[in-house]
Amino acid sequence: MVTRALDVVVLGAPGAGKGTQAKRLAKEFNLFHVATGDLLREEVAKGSELGQQAARFMQRGELVPDELVAQMLVGRLHSQRGMAGCVFDGYPRTQAQAELLDGLLAELGRRVDVAVYLEVSDDEIVSRLGGRRTCPRCGAVFHVRTQPPAQEGLCDVCGTALVVRDDDREDIVRQRLAVYRSHTEPLLQLYAGRGVLRRISGEGSPEQVFGRLAEAVRGGRGH
Ligand code: AMP
Repeated sequence: MVTRALDVVVLGAPGAGKGTQAKRLAKEFNLFHVATGDLLREEVAKGSELGQQAARFMQRGELVPDELVAQMLVGRLHSQRGMAGCVFDGYPRTQAQAELLDGLLAELGRRVDVAVYLEVSDDEIVSRLGGRRTCPRCGAVFHVRTQPPAQEGLCDVCGTALVVRDDDREDIVRQRLAVYRSHTEPLLQLYAGRGVLRRISGEGSPEQVFGRLAEAVRGGRGH
């Protein structure tokens, strides 16, 4: 039996749980996790030319220009030829990015099979991001209330001191939410029009959300 690749886009406001859920989804379905936010933070940490350019936008809670993100993504996808498929986390965020992704996948004989939208209220988002703590070394994510590390302030995975991401400050969070509403929300219509959108509640425990997500992906696989 020949199994086709499976490509999943995870959509949701900042703080909707895309990162946590997308990582788990990739593991469970044996897919490659592509998180443009993580890739950009790696470039910033390395101090590369791209990272220096991107940092200016990220600090303000704005989108990094499409061309810069595209450069990074193209490199990643081309190193993934022949893979079982990808979970795209934080990409696409604009109409132009969605078109680019379609083109890149088409070159590989693939397409977006399922776009999952994690729905979370604004109040919940502000509370989640306020308590979020991130490991600057390995990228693991915790929450002071709902997912505390075993030892306060230290990463469970690598023991590094956890930090609050610069763009998780409340004023920047509000800006990121506004950007999300204007640029990224319209993508829901695009994927709904193709019949690949699945809306699920992103509220509840991470296990509950993952249960809904896995079901939505399995259900959408054969469209
Ligand atoms: P995230 O970790 O997905 O919340 O992304 C953090 C920040 O990285 C965003 O606020 C943007 O500044 C930038 N970023 C991540 N992904 C993209 C993308 N697909 N397009 C433009 N900017 C992005």
